[in-house]
Amino acid sequence: MTQNIIIAGSGFAGLWSAISAARAIALAGRSGDIQVTMVSPSPNVGIRPRLYEAVIENMNPDIAALLDAVGVRHVAGLVETIDAAAKLITIAHRDGGWTTLPYDRFVLATGSRAFAPDLPGLHEYAFDVDTVERALQLDAHLKGLRDAPATAARNTAVIVGGGFTGLESATEMPDRLRAILGGDADIRVVIVDTAKEIGAELGAEAAPVIREALAECGVESRSAVRATAIDANGVTLSSGERIEASTVIWAAGMRANALAAQIPGEHDPLGRVVGDAFLHAPQADGIFVTGDTVKAATDDQGNFAVMSCQHALSLGRVAGHNAAAELVGLPLHPYSQPKYVTCLDLGPWGALYTEGWDRQVRLTRAEGKKVKQEINTVWIYPPAPDRDAVFAAANPDYVIVP
Ligand SMILES: Cc1cc2nc3c(=O)[nH]c(=O)nc-3n(C[C@H](O)[C@H](O)[C@H](O)COP(=O)(O)OP(=O)(O)OC[C@H]3O[C@@H](n4cnc5c(N)ncnc54)[C@H](O)[C@@H]3O)c2cc1C
Repeated sequence: MTQNIIIAGSGFAGLWSAISAARAIALAGRSGDIQVTMVSPSPNVGIRPRLYEAVIENMNPDIAALLDAVGVRHVAGLVETIDAAAKLITIAHRDGGWTTLPYDRFVLATGSRAFAPDLPGLHEYAFDVDTVERALQLDAHLKGLRDAPATAARNTAVIVGGGFTGLESATEMPDRLRAILGGDADIRVVIVDTAKEIGAELGAEAAPVIREALAECGVESRSAVRATAIDANGVTLSSGERIEASTVIWAAGMRANALAAQIPGEHDPLGRVVGDAFLHAPQADGIFVTGDTVKAATDDQGNFAVMSCQHALSLGRVAGHNAAAELVGLPLHPYSQPKYVTCLDLGPWGALYTEGWDRQVRLTRAEGKKVKQEINTVWIYPPAPDRDAVFAAANPDYVIVP
């Protein structure tokens, strides 16, 4: 009887889980009796790390041909429920229909979403760059400002959250608004964060570099404050300050996709399932957790994967391989990713490339930007649908003797 590996999600982790699973099955000569199925709204990878950019193009590449090339079936829909005891999932389809599928192994790769606390006006008035659809909504709004009366609010954007997404959105915004509203418009961009100083959470070496870039891009900072309310005309801060702004962008952190809560076991404060070294959900037989839905140790020094492509791409390969390996009798591969780097785009200033968990500054400005462009336009994109080349890249640090 055919066995089933189901992978929920077609992001970075889901794609590489699917390829890695297919590869392990092929290496074991079992392609005929194990089906790998990916479930997601459509066979596309949303390139979330680029959604702060001014031009939203090629941000949702199609992977249908790639999945075909490696023998993975795609089912369009959203996984709604995971019954870990019965090893069943239910899928909701866009036409209102439902499917129930049994699994032998299930990989949760449904990623994360913007953290949305219960803040007055957040849902009604704030924009974000969390998904391609949301980034397109922001883009349409910004372009629509061209026809709005030339007030200070029209010319002002406030970015709430001084992490990676907030910083990238903020430093891009002055030029982006100028391109829409004209070079002589009096543009104002403000970034707001609860940290004592903007960038402080990104490390002692990186923080002053970030502040230099913000100043050079013309971005104002408000630190040690939080947004307390958002409305159609601006944002109110915990300091009592009111900033009139037609554009408020919410970038205050991420949380694991809600499905993670359906998986029994320990969860971290971000909602991620605490996985074991092989990315099992330890309390749920047959379930693996990967990408932004897992808290996994990257080394034996006490470091853990962060919600990032860098980690999702590797976590995906390991989870997919292990899901298949358990069915075909290959050794499981422990997840390990000791090297940690970051590359933060800082608009016209350039980009900041760091190495290590303490984020030692390695490259800045144009040199950093070159790395960022390579990451954003080449490294994170799905590969061409060439089965052999894709399999070769699917789990490069794992040597299987066929
Ligand atoms: C603006 C922005 C900038 C970023 N910048 C960087 C950066 O510079 N560097 C970096 O490393 N990381 C960055 N990140 C983080 C990075 O994008 C995520 O960590 C990464 O996308 C996680 O990959 P993933 O595969 O786990 O999840 P995702 O990429 O979120 O993919 C999740 C997939 O699951 C699908 N899905 C969701 N719910 C369901 C469901 N119920 N059923 C089935 N499918 C479902 C989605 O459609 C999607 O296909 C950024 C994120 C954002 C939003």
